[in-house]
Amino acid sequence: METKSTLFLFVLAIAGGIFAKNAGRLVRYLSFGKTENRVDSLFARIKQTLLVGFAQTKILRDKVAGPIHAGIFWGFLILLFSAAEGVLEGLNPAWSFNFLGPIYSGITVLTDIFCLMIILGTALSLWRRYVTKVKRLQVEHEKVEAGLILLTIFSIVTSLLLQNTARVGMGEDFSWAVRPVASTLASILPLGHVSFEIFWWLHMLLIFSFTNYLPFSKHLHVLTSIPNVFFSNLGPVNQLEKIDFENENLTRYGVNDIEDFTWKTFLDSYTCTHCGRCTSVCPANQTGKVLDPRMVIIGIHDRVIEKAPLIDKITDYKKNASRENIRNAADGILSGKSSGDFDKNESELFTILLNEEEQSIWNKKLIGDYVSPDALWACTTCGACMEECPVNIEHVPAIVGMRRSMVMMESSFNEESALLPDIYGNMETNSVPWGGFSEQDRALWTEGMDIKTAAEDPEMDVLFWVGCAGSFDDRAKKTTKAFAELMQLSNINFRILGTEERCTGDPARRSGNEYLATMLTTMNVETMNAYNVKTIVTTCPHCFNTLKNDYPQFGGHYEVMHHTQYIKELIDSGRLSIDADKASLSKNAIAYHDSCYLGRYNEEYEAPRALLENVPGLSVLEPARSKDRGLCCGAGGGRMFMEEMVGDRVNITRTNELLETGASTIAVNCPFCSTMITDGVKAADRIDQVQVKDISEILLESVKRN
Ligand code: SF4
Ligand code: SF4
Repeated sequence: METKSTLFLFVLAIAGGIFAKNAGRLVRYLSFGKTENRVDSLFARIKQTLLVGFAQTKILRDKVAGPIHAGIFWGFLILLFSAAEGVLEGLNPAWSFNFLGPIYSGITVLTDIFCLMIILGTALSLWRRYVTKVKRLQVEHEKVEAGLILLTIFSIVTSLLLQNTARVGMGEDFSWAVRPVASTLASILPLGHVSFEIFWWLHMLLIFSFTNYLPFSKHLHVLTSIPNVFFSNLGPVNQLEKIDFENENLTRYGVNDIEDFTWKTFLDSYTCTHCGRCTSVCPANQTGKVLDPRMVIIGIHDRVIEKAPLIDKITDYKKNASRENIRNAADGILSGKSSGDFDKNESELFTILLNEEEQSIWNKKLIGDYVSPDALWACTTCGACMEECPVNIEHVPAIVGMRRSMVMMESSFNEESALLPDIYGNMETNSVPWGGFSEQDRALWTEGMDIKTAAEDPEMDVLFWVGCAGSFDDRAKKTTKAFAELMQLSNINFRILGTEERCTGDPARRSGNEYLATMLTTMNVETMNAYNVKTIVTTCPHCFNTLKNDYPQFGGHYEVMHHTQYIKELIDSGRLSIDADKASLSKNAIAYHDSCYLGRYNEEYEAPRALLENVPGLSVLEPARSKDRGLCCGAGGGRMFMEEMVGDRVNITRTNELLETGASTIAVNCPFCSTMITDGVKAADRIDQVQVKDISEILLESVKRN
């Protein structure tokens, strides 16, 4: 073996060994999270990986940084091939992929082109980070690291290009190799054998160093992004884990520390690129709250990296311990308690195994020391962060998981969420979040409308789920009545549950009270299954999402429609028709506001727009942010029932965007949005000029009545 090959083999073995050790450690940490099946629906997972992972569809949503990053990513895929060839060549200078013939030519051409693209891409990224100082890239403690990483990538690619330039200068050594950029450079830069060896070694050593640096850096995403996308949630957006309250062995609810997350949240935390896309679209962050979804994920990552080695140490000790009482004591420590909760044996073992510094790390709190409770309460669960994240990180289930611990284990609320215990009390006693209402009054809105309950006559084609706001809130009751009238005009055989309907549990579930949500859900499912309900329609996107996506977890399987989808079907089938004369009287510019739970959660953007566009005389205006980028009204995730004391008000920010369209009417599809936007219009002192209407009210004004 040549000296070069021997030396290279030695370097490769060391670099490979160190990498395997550190990467293996991170893989082992995943086992400290709870188990979760993320290998179902393989075909859908592969499709998602091809689209989001390889085609970079989410990265490309950002029209400036997207193409830069996608260029770097695709370039790296090609360069992986060159790196593999470098390893072959290191082992034996005569080895290459030249035998691939014309395919090899294609790859060498692409290698040259991508070298250029990456050099430009990294230069541009450095420019955006340090010269134009793009806001979302300015994370103080990362300034130096980010620069070094970009410079390393720049150097890896430049050394490859110069190495290939030297190859050309030395006389092309591979017959199928076509190198347009290197050939051009070779005519200017006369590089020879010595330069080749220098750039070849520099290139390989930089690759080995970079690969070994990855497990310790935010650039770990280079290795974990594709698997993270592959394992990401395929089901309904923000699907929350059900808790089995019947399980007597379960003593902890929600996420108190990292062991309460599943392994997928660990992987999410490894994968965050720190790009800040989530933060830049977060309504809470953008209105001055402490919530920064990127920092929530970074906080989880920091806790994983600090605590997992300690869990590793204790697990290892337990495995090797010969005595059962020591293994039991280790189990006690590993069960996620803080040191104050240990019994005598556990305390002794704890102090033997961990030094003082390690003990103080162990005793830190995920919620408090790494993630701010105020940040967790500020989340509206709008899902904008998850929609934007290029590597499919799942912020909202993590946030709600931590809220569960605060609510169910600690009963801990901040100033803004201090009203929640009363709200929960109302839901428990009267099945409605607002105080001052009796569940016996749920159907009072039907007075004079000839609407039957399921108890009066269970023969129905569809159940109209009215919801708490639709039953009790004066503004929302107008929507309820308008939609009921549209169904009556279409001769739909519908029923309501009346006094048998309870809150769906959405505000409880999203704010962290899974126990209460489970109780309400179970009762509602029992009621609806007893009436053999098949199809449900509702005017509330929160009820819609909960009934459609949460209730199947509890045995409630129904076809669930939002009223805008249902009205569209009525119009499409001819059961309802627009009265052109009447509609044309209402010449109007309408701004449409997407609710998060109909839009991002259920990807329904078209039905409401189609309804409005169907009305002659109406022109639909889009606010600056709409559809999957629509800004939240501020009421989701239980925020409807919390105070907003910090920063600007989310509803006012959103209303101003809608007012900027110049529309005289704002169309909504949600009772919470209706309240929030109406308050926003009042705050802007425009209530005399601008109306806020539900789509059903607009349609009711425009349809034919026979
Ligand atoms: S769900 Fe919405 S409010 Fe919550 S962190 Fe994500 S973007 Fe922010
Ligand atoms: S969570 Fe996703 S969007 Fe947010 S910083 Fe990390 S990678 Fe970027």
